[in-house]
Amino acid sequence: MARVIAKTATVASSDDARWAAVVARDQAADGAFAYAVASKGIYCRPSCPSSRANQTNVTFHASPAEAEAAGYRPCKRCRPHEDTSPEPKAAKIIAACRMIEMAEQEPTLDVLANAAGLSPFHFQRIFKSMTGVTPKA
Ligand SMILES: [Zn+2]
Repeated sequence: MARVIAKTATVASSDDARWAAVVARDQAADGAFAYAVASKGIYCRPSCPSSRANQTNVTFHASPAEAEAAGYRPCKRCRPHEDTSPEPKAAKIIAACRMIEMAEQEPTLDVLANAAGLSPFHFQRIFKSMTGVTPKA
């Protein structure tokens, strides 16, 4: 079970707290650190939607630059080397991704757009620009 952690500034202070943020895909931790996965040779932001690595393969880095200096490539999915402070739209899209992941039945575009407070057209465009796929994909 994922531990729920308080969203505090302590997230960057210990590897346990960092790992807990990764497990929780805590968006509040984005920008505070990056985590690298030795088995994949990539590094991610804490909220990366891809499947979680084994903790034993994970190392923590204070910044994307530090992870790259250690020889890791940025994850293509969460793009940790790009804007580290997601704009509100991005957070909405990330929330929508979670909705899709959590839902037993695939939510419709209308439902997702509504939840994000955007029009279906606008939602799909932003979603695609951020993830490279349509919400349906
Ligand atoms: Zn990632």
